[in-house]
Amino acid sequence: SRWQEAGQGCSGLLRDIHSVIQREPFTEHYTLIPGKELGRGKFAVVKKCVEKSSGREYAAKFMRKRRKGQDCRAEIIHEIAVLELASSCHRVVNLHAVYEMSSEIVLVLEFAAGGEIFNQCVAERDEAFKEEDVKRLMRQILEGVAFLHKNNVVHLDLKPQNILLTSNDPLGDIKIVDFGLSRMVSSSQEIREIMGTPEYVAPEVLNYEPISTATDMWSIGVLAYVMLTGMSPFLGADKQETFLNISQINVSYTEEELEQLDKAAIHFIKSLLIKEPEDRSTAENCLKHPWLQTQETDSEKEKWNTSSSIPEPVSTAVSTQSADEDIE
Ligand code: ADP
Ligand code: MG
Repeated sequence: SRWQEAGQGCSGLLRDIHSVIQREPFTEHYTLIPGKELGRGKFAVVKKCVEKSSGREYAAKFMRKRRKGQDCRAEIIHEIAVLELASSCHRVVNLHAVYEMSSEIVLVLEFAAGGEIFNQCVAERDEAFKEEDVKRLMRQILEGVAFLHKNNVVHLDLKPQNILLTSNDPLGDIKIVDFGLSRMVSSSQEIREIMGTPEYVAPEVLNYEPISTATDMWSIGVLAYVMLTGMSPFLGADKQETFLNISQINVSYTEEELEQLDKAAIHFIKSLLIKEPEDRSTAENCLKHPWLQTQETDSEKEKWNTSSSIPEPVSTAVSTQSADEDIE
């Protein structure tokens, strides 16, 4: 059938990869750094390692081929195929090599030394992202997501645990990881599946309605809210309450943390946390949103200021915000 010729299964999984799957032991070429577990999911463990030939650091994602008694090799192959598809995109983590053992497949990934943005999202407000940081990082996230969407890939698990940083201090650039739930979307098929993380999941996923690139855009709205405030907008006391909050779009825009921000930031979030997927902003349009337009450089400010004798304060929004934080 048509979709099989395209190398894509009926469930939106890619089946063809270009990477050479190495069969000799992973440990022949890499040294695992002891005690350095970078992360862990339901079926994967990620460990830091060093390539013996180059001395370079990588993150090795060990994935079990059998999960709950099911053969999941096809899902892992799909994850590899998506990473290959996105290899020219700097906002998506780079895949360096693949090893296959009897019960595991190892993805050797570019090492993102700054860890998850989750850490700054839940940090005390003085260690958390400043609005200017969020703007820059959100622009990068959107660049990555726009690339994926242009290539008909939906991530379906965009959350602070799956957005990593190249470095922490100074704050580096983002890398999108974890394509374990990602799918190919095309007009010829509909995907309806319950998946993702409750707090970040879109209403259509809960209602078993078709999934599209707009499903990721909902998660971007939640992500922006969390990065700016440290608060999860829909999180309830339990899963049921969270799901109810999402399906009723029960979200507060009057939190103190939001009131300190540029009004455009709220408008940005509101353009995404919309029930109807087709009414949400796209990644490309988000990149054009006034909130994310580059700040005037100092020289541009000087240019404006020369016309009047009253000097403008530099970056009003940021200095006001940090002053408020000091009072807190
Ligand atoms: P899972 O599918 O189990 O969630 P992920 O790909 O999200 O697997 O990896 C789990 C965690 O491991 C991530 O949340 C992150 O903390 C860490 N991690 C994954 N990839 C890298 C990487 N390339 N560099 C550094 N840490 C990573
Ligand atoms: Mg993950």
